[in-house]
This record gives sequence, C-alpha cells and structure tokens, in this order.
Amino acid sequence: MRYRGRFAPSPTGPLHAGSLVAAFASWLDARARAGEWLVRIEDVDRPRTVPGADQEILRQLAACSLLPDQPPTWQSQREPLYQAALDRLVREGKAYPCACSRKDIALALRAQGRERTRHGELVYPGTCRGGLGAREARAWRFHVPEGLVPWTDRRVGVHLQNVAEEVGDFILKRADGLFAYQLAVVVDDADQGITHVVRGADLVDNTPRQILLQRALGIATPLYLHAPLVLAANGEKLSKQNGAAPVDVADPAAALAAAAAVLGIGVDARSGVDAVLAQAVPAWAARFP
Ligand code: GLU
Repeated sequence: MRYRGRFAPSPTGPLHAGSLVAAFASWLDARARAGEWLVRIEDVDRPRTVPGADQEILRQLAACSLLPDQPPTWQSQREPLYQAALDRLVREGKAYPCACSRKDIALALRAQGRERTRHGELVYPGTCRGGLGAREARAWRFHVPEGLVPWTDRRVGVHLQNVAEEVGDFILKRADGLFAYQLAVVVDDADQGITHVVRGADLVDNTPRQILLQRALGIATPLYLHAPLVLAANGEKLSKQNGAAPVDVADPAAALAAAAAVLGIGVDARSGVDAVLAQAVPAWAARFP
C-alpha cells in the first residue's frame, strides 16, 4: 500500500516548539518514504477550538515549507462519518448508550469498593452495559473487550496495556453531543488511507484504545511512531498552559533545526529552510528505516 502519513493538530492555538516536532517528524517520515503527507485539523472538540488557530497553524507550516500533498481537512465537517461508525458499533453490540453523570460513576465505584481513577479520570465501572432502564442516554461508550493490547512503536518498541482495566469503557460521543477524539481519529485515519501515524509521545497512551476501535470496525491498524516531546521548564510536556511560545516563523530554518535536534538529527540552520529539509530527510531515513 502506498505510504500515507498525516499531521493532525488540534486548533487550540498556534504551533509551538513541541507541536512543530510532531509536524516535522510526520513530514520527514512521509518524505523519507516517498509517501504522501496530509494535514487534518482536529477541531471536533469545539469548546477547545480557538478561532483562527487553524489558519495560523497552516501559515506556520507553509512558512517552514511543510506543505501537504492534498488540501487540508477539518474534522468538524466530517461528523456524519463518525456517526455512521458509531451507529455500526451500536448495531453490532460494540457500543452502548450511557446515562451516568460523573457523580453516578463516582458513587458506583465507591459502592464497589473501587476508587479507580487514571490521570484524574474515573475508570467507568460498566454500569450501563446492561441497558439504561428508565434512564436517558447522555453519552455513548465503547464496550472494551477484556485482555491485554500489545503493540509496537517504531521508535520505542513494545507496549502493553489492559484497556478494560486501566481505562474502561471509554466515551465515543459525549454528553454535549460531540464526538470523542478516539473515534474521530480512527475513522479519519482509515477513511484517508493513513498507513503510518507519526505523532507526539503524549498520545502513546491513546494508541491501544484506537487499536481496539480499529479491530471493532474491521479497519487495518497503521504503523505508529511516537516522537519525543519537548518539555517545559517545569518538566511537563510543553503546552500553551505552561507558556509555550508560538513557533517564530521569521526564522523557519532555526525553528526546524531546533525541532530536528529534538528528533536526534543535526542540521545546519544557517543554510536556509530548503537545505535544512534536504539534510534532515536522509538523516531521518537512516534513523527510522
Ligand atoms: N489532535 C491531536 C493533538 O493535537 C493529535 C492527534 C493524532 O495525531 O492522533 O494532540
């Protein structure tokens, strides 16, 4: 199958040093394999979307000569696809409506003597798996199959996660009617024929959930590579919240050279954008054949 990769930013603000690393890594992998590279704006979470951030991201990418091979797509225009996937999962008994509020979940967990949270999120105890009774549906959840999900990352190797135990039946469509990232990303990667996903290591934890959804929908699992993160001074992943500055595209060669360094690739920033890109592609190909 022809290589096709993508960069899928959430338009919550302009690109910063960390998101440029993810963009550059996915572009490099596509170029190193003579593949196609797409850009998909992940604006499915409307409350988090910042007006104009999508155009700003596209402008920053263009200033760095990271140009997609097809016109960009917006998730907000693709909701019928996500609904069709959800309908199919529900029809096949792989997803179900859920009437629980956060408080209901916390109470159910306590009643079971379990206080399971993960990153502050409650692990859903499966209350509505057997039906809603007289209650009204709020959200839709994926019925997570039992067992370990092993997968291999091209950079960091083998991972194992027991999604049923560590995450539980996760949300596909939220109480506010918006589709969850997990469903949208799986549907879009499949619909766009993505063969290789290259993205930031902050998403490693999401991959097993996405693999389970792919299996449930009869979709092939792409190959995954999670790129190193840029850390803020406080040791956390760089983000707008901890003061990440927008990438300065007045000097794109310097911005790309800094991103390349995070990826373990040395380039000469003084030689200009085109030369930086030309040096980085074979270096990437040697690191990640
Ligand atoms: N939209 C996600 C983010 O910006 C990335 C999704 C992905 O690459 O799978 O964090």
